[in-house]
Amino acid sequence: MAKKVSKKDMAKNAAKTVAQKYIYSFEGRNSEGNVMMKSLLGGKGANLADMAGLGLPVPPGFTLTTAACAKYYEIGEQALYALVEGEIIDALRKLEQVTGKSFGKGPNPLLVSVRSGAAASMPGMMDTVLNLGLNDETVAAMIRRTNNPRFVWDSYRRFIQMFGNVVMGVEHHLFEHELGAVKKAKGCQLDTDLTAEDLQEVVAAYTAMVKRETKQMFPSSAMEQLKQGINAVFSSWNNPRAIKYRQMNDIRCLLGTAVNVQTMVFGNSGPNSATGVAFTRDPSTGSHKYFYGEYLVNAQGEDVVAGIRTPQQITVKGSREWAKSRNIPEAERKANFPALQEVMPEIFNELDAIRVKLEHHYTDMQDIEFTVEDGKLYMLQTRSGKRTAAAAVKIATDLIKEGIITEKTAVMRVQPSQLDQLLHPVFVKSAEVKAKQLTMGLPASPGAAKGQLVFDADDAEKWHRQGKSVILCRIETSPEDIGGMNVAAGILTARGGMTSHAAVVARGMGKCCVSGCGELQIDYDLKSVTINKTTLKEGDWVSLNGSTGVVYNGAIEVEDPKLTGPFALIMKLADKYRTLGVRTNADTPAETAKAVKFGAEGIGLCRTEHMFFDGKRIQSFRRLVLVAEQVKHLRDMIWDMEDGAERNQLEQELAAPLKQYNQALKELLPLQRKDFIRMFKVLKGRPCTVRLLDPPLHEFLPQDAKGQAEMAKIMGVSTAAIKKVVESLHESNPMLGHRGCRLGISYPEVTQMQVRAICEAAAVVKGSKTEIMVPLVGHVKELASQKEIICAVIEDVQKKKNVKLDISIGTMIEVPRAAVTADQIAEVADFFSFGTNDMTQMACGFSRDDAGKFLVDYVKRGFYEYDPFQVLDQDGVGRLIKIAVEYGRSVKQDLKIGICGEHGGDPKTVAFCHGAGFNYVSCSPYRVPIARLAAAQAALMV
Ligand code: PEP
Ligand code: MG
Repeated sequence: MAKKVSKKDMAKNAAKTVAQKYIYSFEGRNSEGNVMMKSLLGGKGANLADMAGLGLPVPPGFTLTTAACAKYYEIGEQALYALVEGEIIDALRKLEQVTGKSFGKGPNPLLVSVRSGAAASMPGMMDTVLNLGLNDETVAAMIRRTNNPRFVWDSYRRFIQMFGNVVMGVEHHLFEHELGAVKKAKGCQLDTDLTAEDLQEVVAAYTAMVKRETKQMFPSSAMEQLKQGINAVFSSWNNPRAIKYRQMNDIRCLLGTAVNVQTMVFGNSGPNSATGVAFTRDPSTGSHKYFYGEYLVNAQGEDVVAGIRTPQQITVKGSREWAKSRNIPEAERKANFPALQEVMPEIFNELDAIRVKLEHHYTDMQDIEFTVEDGKLYMLQTRSGKRTAAAAVKIATDLIKEGIITEKTAVMRVQPSQLDQLLHPVFVKSAEVKAKQLTMGLPASPGAAKGQLVFDADDAEKWHRQGKSVILCRIETSPEDIGGMNVAAGILTARGGMTSHAAVVARGMGKCCVSGCGELQIDYDLKSVTINKTTLKEGDWVSLNGSTGVVYNGAIEVEDPKLTGPFALIMKLADKYRTLGVRTNADTPAETAKAVKFGAEGIGLCRTEHMFFDGKRIQSFRRLVLVAEQVKHLRDMIWDMEDGAERNQLEQELAAPLKQYNQALKELLPLQRKDFIRMFKVLKGRPCTVRLLDPPLHEFLPQDAKGQAEMAKIMGVSTAAIKKVVESLHESNPMLGHRGCRLGISYPEVTQMQVRAICEAAAVVKGSKTEIMVPLVGHVKELASQKEIICAVIEDVQKKKNVKLDISIGTMIEVPRAAVTADQIAEVADFFSFGTNDMTQMACGFSRDDAGKFLVDYVKRGFYEYDPFQVLDQDGVGRLIKIAVEYGRSVKQDLKIGICGEHGGDPKTVAFCHGAGFNYVSCSPYRVPIARLAAAQAALMV
């Protein structure tokens, strides 16, 4: 009797069946996938299925899932193929049925493209093979069928080149060499000048060269080609550039790439065919004045992005603007570079209608690929388009106005970290007007950049490591250049349109880029570029305006951007939806003003010691440091001593250093007071958390002989005396040493001076709200003792000035002991601010100054998901924080809680702080808008 199957088992079996399905086909409304299946089908596969389901003209095909890719890495290439072969054959049969073509044979051969597509888009990082299925037999059949031998031989030579490079590992330049040799022999300038017979020669030369290089025959079996093609795409998931791209873009937790096998349609089959890429809105600016895109007649996909031929614009409007920027007269434009709208008006109208449909369906700007084959339009891809930050905020706010998305969706659409791009400098207008213009290219990615020319991506990385600002200048960029592009201040290329590799990648990085600058004559060997009659060498300065495409000679002065328009609106919406406060870490009035402009609601950390370094005051502070230990030592001895001669003697010994100590404090008081007055004025009643002196005293003294000699001269003492003090202040573990509140406990007059300066400043600037913060507290008694001193000074100033000051007293929580005794500390504190830099150091046991050396390795190995000094280690340090919040609020329900470590501006940490019930985060001025948006997203995600 058959075993009775329970419902649970049935569900399990069903799940197993689903899990074992590695292939999903897409074919019109019968498509098996949809947009919700991105993690399994990859973005491209899911959207192809979705578009086909919407009734859009998508060539049919099938997708091998990302789970198959994961399996590939688990069981290896042979075993994986054996596992999926049956499904592939079934899917191919289906394709043959719907297309009426046959794979690998005539009379009507089915050719396919094999393309990667992960759940997160990684443009150009993984491999693609087009025209797969061509061999001598199918070539002959296709020639018979199309009566267009040139097209067929061109497709064949492209296939051998792509497959030979991507799958068989033959270097690209070897193909270029063979192609160049035939072109030279035939006296041809362009690829398009080659005849069918010439291309047949190229195919023969390619095949022979591949055999020479790989010691293998080029595979003629279509099934073998498909097998190798699929394996190559899976393997490209882990090629170095794809790994680097994922690291740079923080793409994690994906199974792998999917592989899309799709019926080929040919944009290169004659003058009635074309191929193009388009964005439904301008990816640089977000504008949708017109449908933005590029195309080429009689070309295949890679021709548009490779920068070999100059792509033409989709719309007449766009074409005219393009021509204007290059000084091309209208008649010449119309004759040589007409728009798709002019060349194929019906196709244009159909594409334009699809543009509207796709934007409404996906409620976002789309990046699309299309091909026209003999007058019929096909859609090959749609995805949310990569965009600059400026475009992201403009598109999000425009989509609200157009009723396509809600305010909340708009807030979620902009990546907080991307905002950084909008906050950085642009050229000073008056300086840009005067600058010498060298040439003009395409405004591929906006912003302003000045730097020294380098011509190689590795050199860019090298120079960057030496602290130089570089402009990476290339004929065209390729994915291998990604590292150099990442560190360059700007990118300049001689070739390539707005959708070229350089342009797309630069926009994704938010990096200024001018592409397609045809007047550049770059000589890689001489490391120089000639523009008209000017020759610039490696190291010469140039400036790029990525918003206009203009290239200037020399370095142009830059300034802060205006924070208005869509940016201001997104920020306003962020403020509407966030509940977490955002403050800044600032030590000077200038920094404070900048942060307030960026929306900071107050200062969460003013590191007062930075004020001591400024100008002449370092001398006053050094005078204090020189005698501080001696004063303390003598006082301690006197304290323990009965009255008598010896005590008198010590008191006499103390008199001189004490005088110097008090004199230094007297000099510092008005300087500090002035600093605070200026800060409080800028803050206009916003709260200001002032931290008392924190770093160990040795940091204020010169450690080198030359500096010590100079200091000795200024102080009027011997170099030996300085050296002696430096040595006496030396500690083996200074970060765990005599610093933080321990200084205030040893030198209470320093605390008194600082608090007096704060109080007197607050008395001057009416309405000031001050929070005095005691650093590095580990024991409640440390805080209690400092609080007593602070309260006495506050009272004294209030009495003397006859004012009532709004001052609270709290502490940093950065020592693990403080976190776990937070209930005791909260009895004495009005607020907590988590100093997560020190807390990470102490909780993880990593020196914050040295751990970088091995932490990279820890992150690589996955011990820590991120560098714990950049993104809060939520499992460890985060747990301590949660304990401290819970304990602290258990005794003081309304205890104000913030964070002021570097983590305060990191979006993931901001989300954590929101979840943990913080009142605010505090971060550096430039990260304030990032934190505001991250806080809103955290609130909306709950
Ligand atoms: C901290 O430790 O997180 C902190 C803000 O203080 P500092 O970085 O000045 O030690
Ligand atoms: Mg600290």
